[in-house]
Amino acid sequence: AKRDGRAHYQYFSPEMNVEMLARMHLEQRLRKAVKLSEFYLEYQPIIDMRSGAITSVEALIRWQDPEFGLISPEDFIPIAEETGLIDPLGEWILHQALTDLAQLHAQGLMISMAINVSGRQCINSKGISFYNVLKDALAEHAIAAKYIHIEITESILIEDKPQCLQILDAIKQLGVDIYLDDFGTGYSALSYLTQCPISVIKIDKSFIDKVLVNTSDKKLIKAIVMMAKNLDLPLVAEGVETVEQWDFLRDLGCDYAQGYLMSKPLSNIKLLAHLLQAKPF
Ligand code: C2E
Ligand code: CA
Ligand code: CA
Ligand code: CA
Repeated sequence: AKRDGRAHYQYFSPEMNVEMLARMHLEQRLRKAVKLSEFYLEYQPIIDMRSGAITSVEALIRWQDPEFGLISPEDFIPIAEETGLIDPLGEWILHQALTDLAQLHAQGLMISMAINVSGRQCINSKGISFYNVLKDALAEHAIAAKYIHIEITESILIEDKPQCLQILDAIKQLGVDIYLDDFGTGYSALSYLTQCPISVIKIDKSFIDKVLVNTSDKKLIKAIVMMAKNLDLPLVAEGVETVEQWDFLRDLGCDYAQGYLMSKPLSNIKLLAHLLQAKPF
């Protein structure tokens, strides 16, 4: 019994305790932050590689915690998903994004906006589907569906409820395009490309990072671009940081690019200024 006790004790190693406490603490702060809406959105331009014009922006959430400082969405979105906090948070994101987009449209800046949607948002805890949430929000903000698209990852179809596919179909019918995010990082994305109503593929930054490093990765990117072309799916390259990457991707026939080379994510005020004086990239 003593041995078991020791094994049990080892399981909760000091490092693990610290990690668990930190995670519980973060969860508590996140709960409070959701209640008080302590978030803001930034928007990163997406550029048409042929014309150099900004065609859309991706909404990216930011959380500035008084104690922890700026916390990455990569750290808190998974917690929000596990705890169900993604329901109120997801609705806040949607309404804030549509509010900001309506403001741009009021200035005559008719760009579109990408919103990241996690699998858990397909059906919320009240049993309401994201299709209904989105439809109501578009009506409330008087924004035409064609100006919004959602970004999903293939995990939405693997891990989550089977109804997700039907909900995505309905969303697509509404006129909201669906982009497949982080393409190339999952397991069997190819089969999902035909099963799911995907309109655009976003190539994950990890591939773009390697574009100029070695030939085999160059070949891989070429293969991805050719496959997308064969399926008639436009491509967005994510995380473009250098002119060399831009040139390589443009020459391959990649359609859109997003990355620090063109612009970092911007506050809504900076985005407005940026769009008003934007020259083609
Ligand atoms: P993602 O959807 O793949 O978003 C792209 C990420 O790449 C963003 O990080 C963006 O700031 C970053 N990025 C773009 N261009 C460059 C570049 O040239 N260099 C580098 N180093 N990074 C670049 P961010 O904003 O930290 O978001 C991380 C992830 O968190 C997102 O990955 C997405 O999965 C999630 N996320 C962010 N906002 C939301 C949201 O509103 N809802 C949901 N469900 N998830 C979100
Ligand atoms: Ca995204
Ligand atoms: Ca991505
Ligand atoms: Ca990502």
